[in-house]
Amino acid sequence: MDYSLFGQKFTRHAGITQLMDDLNQGLLNPDAIMLGGGNPAAIPEMQTAFSQQMAQQLADGDLLQALANYDGPKGKDSFTTALAGLLQREYGWPISADNIALTNGSQTAFFYLFNLLAGDFATQKKKVLFPLAPEYIGYADSALCEEMFVAGKPSISLLDDGLFKYHIDFDTLDVTDDIGLICVSRPTNPTGNVLTDEEILHLDEIARAKGIPLLIDNAYGTPFPNIIFSDVTPFWNDNTILCMSLSKLGLPGARCGIVIAPPTVIQALGNLSGIINLAPGGIGPTLMRPWVDNGEIIRLSRDIIRPFYEQRAWQTVDLLQQAIPAPRLRIHKPEGALFLWLWFEGLPIHSQELYQRLKERGLILVPGHYFFAGIQDPQWRHQQECMRLNYAQHPDNVAAGIQILAQTIDELADTW
Ligand code: PLP
Repeated sequence: MDYSLFGQKFTRHAGITQLMDDLNQGLLNPDAIMLGGGNPAAIPEMQTAFSQQMAQQLADGDLLQALANYDGPKGKDSFTTALAGLLQREYGWPISADNIALTNGSQTAFFYLFNLLAGDFATQKKKVLFPLAPEYIGYADSALCEEMFVAGKPSISLLDDGLFKYHIDFDTLDVTDDIGLICVSRPTNPTGNVLTDEEILHLDEIARAKGIPLLIDNAYGTPFPNIIFSDVTPFWNDNTILCMSLSKLGLPGARCGIVIAPPTVIQALGNLSGIINLAPGGIGPTLMRPWVDNGEIIRLSRDIIRPFYEQRAWQTVDLLQQAIPAPRLRIHKPEGALFLWLWFEGLPIHSQELYQRLKERGLILVPGHYFFAGIQDPQWRHQQECMRLNYAQHPDNVAAGIQILAQTIDELADTW
């Protein structure tokens, strides 16, 4: 079959596809320890709360209504109105339902937004800038044209206790005239980094000066799911596109992404959505609307979700540091998201090779080199020295996985 250029780009077997296949294969091996993917934890209190909510809405007919009707292309009005109210009350943001569009997962929103604001324009080609690599792997293959991403190398500060933290290197960050959008995840997948308020304000200034929007991917952030352990201020203004999601709250199967942006961008997304989807799914918004109305979504995120992940993150840091002390292993300071980012400085093999060796022993982690889309420097060894570990899985599995990792790293000692 002869495919179009679009077909060729979106059907090729990308590195990430190979990896997802491997993760799936791992699932077929009942003994494999899966610390790779990005699935949120099944938190018992949350599962009970979701079940009660579903039972209630099944009984009163709301769930059936949601399944039996299309919403508008921007998503369920009652939900977007309730959410605008919540964000006004919580943060004083001057927004209404005209500032909100829903999509089938925030992954779909990135596809729309990247290709709306970057790519081929009448007289020039524009790109998306990731000011801080490493960045979310899911952005990397979502452009309609080639070479649409550029990324900035971080500066690295070594912290006490074997931890480190990435910062945006504003001295070398080059926002050239062909940049159409600046994009960051906060908290960041894969590192658990949370950009400081100063970094966000600085990016906002740069974006405004250049006349381009700043996209902040808040999939793990506040006010929900609130998987964020440092005190930072939520950020939005009329030059910001804030993307949120119901996934990491514990509902990835609902496929509900949320975009908060100026009304012109929202209108454009609505038009795109009408053509591509007719309408986004209504189950997630229907289930969550009562919790948005009464603020329960914030209470559960604050009292159940954040403490669960924070405890698990630090427990895993302790286990890792006992098994592989610094300086062999440095861990990015866990400030949010579901992952620990492990840096083996001077690792004598490529992270892909380490991934293979671990996989042969039944442990699945994600090799770090996939997270550097847009970095132009192939010689930068740091890209090959990191691994991502999902710490949100069962603690027994995490502990067993760490033993395999420690043993495999130990065997490399002679060549290090
Ligand atoms: N943003 C980040 C940083 C993520 O890690 C993920 C999923 O892992 C997403 C967005 C996409 O989430 P969804 O499409 O389920 O809303």
